[in-house]
Amino acid sequence: MHSNAPEPALSAPRIGRAHYFPQTSDSDWNDWRWQFRNRVTSLEALASHLEIPADEWQDRLDVLEDFRMGITPYYLSLIDKDDPDDPILRQVVPLAEENLFRAVGEEDPLGEEQFSPVPGITHRYPDRVLMVVSNNCAIYCRYCTRKRTMYEGATPDVELDRMVDYIARTPSVRDVVVSGGDPLNYSNAKLEQILSKLRAIPHLEIIRIGSRVPVALPQRIDDELCAMLAKYHPIWVNVHFNHPREVTPEAARACDKLSRAGIPLNNQAVLLKGVNDSVETIKSLCHGLMRMRVRPYYLYQCDPVRGAEHFRTPISKGIEIMEGLRGHTSGLAVPTFVVDAPGGGGKIPVAPQYLLHYEREQGRAVLRNFQGKIYEYFEPRTETDEVNPQPAPAGGRLESSGAFGGPLVHANGVAATPEKLNGHAATPKAARARSKGRAAAAGSTNGSAKVEGSAPVVGKSRWVHRGKSQHSTSSARLAALAAANGHPKP
Ligand code: SF4
Repeated sequence: MHSNAPEPALSAPRIGRAHYFPQTSDSDWNDWRWQFRNRVTSLEALASHLEIPADEWQDRLDVLEDFRMGITPYYLSLIDKDDPDDPILRQVVPLAEENLFRAVGEEDPLGEEQFSPVPGITHRYPDRVLMVVSNNCAIYCRYCTRKRTMYEGATPDVELDRMVDYIARTPSVRDVVVSGGDPLNYSNAKLEQILSKLRAIPHLEIIRIGSRVPVALPQRIDDELCAMLAKYHPIWVNVHFNHPREVTPEAARACDKLSRAGIPLNNQAVLLKGVNDSVETIKSLCHGLMRMRVRPYYLYQCDPVRGAEHFRTPISKGIEIMEGLRGHTSGLAVPTFVVDAPGGGGKIPVAPQYLLHYEREQGRAVLRNFQGKIYEYFEPRTETDEVNPQPAPAGGRLESSGAFGGPLVHANGVAATPEKLNGHAATPKAARARSKGRAAAAGSTNGSAKVEGSAPVVGKSRWVHRGKSQHSTSSARLAALAAANGHPKP
């Protein structure tokens, strides 16, 4: 193992292989072709490994008519056979719930077909395109947005050539996402054919490959593949881990090989009910990714694709998870939560609200930190001199109850909610009055801010001056103020 092997994280004991495939030799098990050939693709085959309730057979058979099943032996081995709600199982095993919502959802929830100048290409953003080169995957995820493209048979070469040709005659395209299906399901020779044609296009700068192979078939990531990919740099790979139990030594080895080939790895997880819809699970996943040198990139709201309604969570769940990550772990471990807008609107980032109030004219913001503590922040004076002729303090913390989202407490003991703050008048007159008040606050030595004019008093000031001010502040007082505001010593 390399030194970056993952620590166990939310792990079920790894007894799967011994349980499901006791007779399989190591050489077969570690051969990705054996893994691919021995995928579980029928309910009958699945029933020889996992118990399927008799009254659910028909429901599960029915949904397989809509979307096929495929589970590599390796991925099956991650499933806890004793847990019918196992998060790995839920991602790939057709469930009766899926039949319940069989008619709910869209075939093409992101409107990819509407933005398709030639079959296989989606050109939605100005400088980049999606190129769907394959219609098969190592595993089939029950929530897949692109279920509609997973038909049997290979993508014809003539279609691949038309896609390359479109990129070649579209100079605005500097970045292509080669996806599918899974491009890494192709042989090295076939994949190289595609990559070499793309790399020959002068204006194409970046080639990104979207793949779930490091998660579902990590044996596929071998030295030959990595050496081939490295010939076509800059190559990036977007991987797709959803649960910390997918972060295995095998997956870590695959990611390590790709990283050593100079390929940056970014993870695109999908938020799925019953799989990863908790702060604890996503945090553990992100930490596992970081240990493998994979950057948590996006956390997607599950798309409203047909047959996936049982996986969808409210947007508030994603916001809650982001709230539980930001500030509570390294910023590098925090993905961007995005909703892919229906009908082709593109990715829309959604985040908890940390900017509680902003007065552009007065250069003043009220911000909330990850602990729910509330701070007042003033922008550079050069931006606001016209309405704020006095030197501005750099900002400071407004007292709050300490509880997340708790009320602000004024110096005079009157509670102010962010809503009240948002209700401030922003007229030039009010701005002048408030600037005056702010200047008074800057000179305050007892820490209380008295804002004049008609606007309500918003809080007290324990100013932490970080720059020059007309009122000098002793370093001892600075330290005391910083400590009082929960900052490190300035
Ligand atoms: S690996 Fe990706 S493209 Fe393939 S089924 Fe899963 S989500 Fe869909």
